[in-house]
Amino acid sequence: MCLDCDNQSMKDLKRRHLMKLAGLGLAATGIAPIVLASETKAPVAADAHGADAHATEAPAEGSHDAGSAHVAAPEAAEAKPAADPHTAPAGGLTPKQALAKLKEGNRRFVDDANACAADLAARRTELAAGQHPWAIVLTCSDSRVTPELIFGGVTLGELFVVRNAGNVLDTGALGTIEYGTEHLHAPLVVVMGHKKCGAVAAACDVVKKGAQLEGSIGKMVQPILPVALAALFTSEDFVGQTVRNNAVSGAKRIAEESPIVSHLVDNGTVKIVAAVYDIETGEVQFIDKIA
Ligand SMILES: [Zn+2]
Repeated sequence: MCLDCDNQSMKDLKRRHLMKLAGLGLAATGIAPIVLASETKAPVAADAHGADAHATEAPAEGSHDAGSAHVAAPEAAEAKPAADPHTAPAGGLTPKQALAKLKEGNRRFVDDANACAADLAARRTELAAGQHPWAIVLTCSDSRVTPELIFGGVTLGELFVVRNAGNVLDTGALGTIEYGTEHLHAPLVVVMGHKKCGAVAAACDVVKKGAQLEGSIGKMVQPILPVALAALFTSEDFVGQTVRNNAVSGAKRIAEESPIVSHLVDNGTVKIVAAVYDIETGEVQFIDKIA
């Protein structure tokens, strides 16, 4: 099963169906030129999404999930004509397609949560009365860094998660952490950076190359700049060192800037650690000593 590839699989099914028709000599109806045009423009996008790798799964998926999803989600079906990977950005989906995919995913979750994990439906019911997360995770918004997945597939109600690009400890993040520790009584706070972080790399470019960042991105990475500056020339892996130091710095600043959390740390109720996630190996390296 590959929930992410439903749309792509359906497109592939259509594409392969058309190719089959062309192979059977029905191309003279006018289908063939369309297929050929698509094929000549699309190979990179198709490969980038691993569509070919999922080709063997497509018939089974198309027989239930995708079919029912399209019945229930006309907007998703409408998006298909625009499902033109040639004009789409790197992700391969247009904004409209991405939104439709999100809606489909959420619909699957609501209709049959067990399709995602064994006990999500039960947990959803259990948690309706209240949450008691056991860890707070401040991490990057990077789509490869999903705490619930990388921490062993923990279910609903376990992690209280704060995310932004570069896992920056801004006011929103600090307030969220205060809420999670003080009111939800989460006993652990993890500030987790990750290897190959684009936000940290951008901050490093500002420091090292004088790069100018557009829009609000420059402001967003400002808290990373002093960390990057301090790491400059300290390691051959400038970005990697800054990622690590940024996580440690964020973890340290929590108690320094929040009397609420500091009090909980002092009385042993809360522990704060830093961590770095390796997006290649899947390993999380914890840094316990942040002082
Ligand atoms: Zn990142």
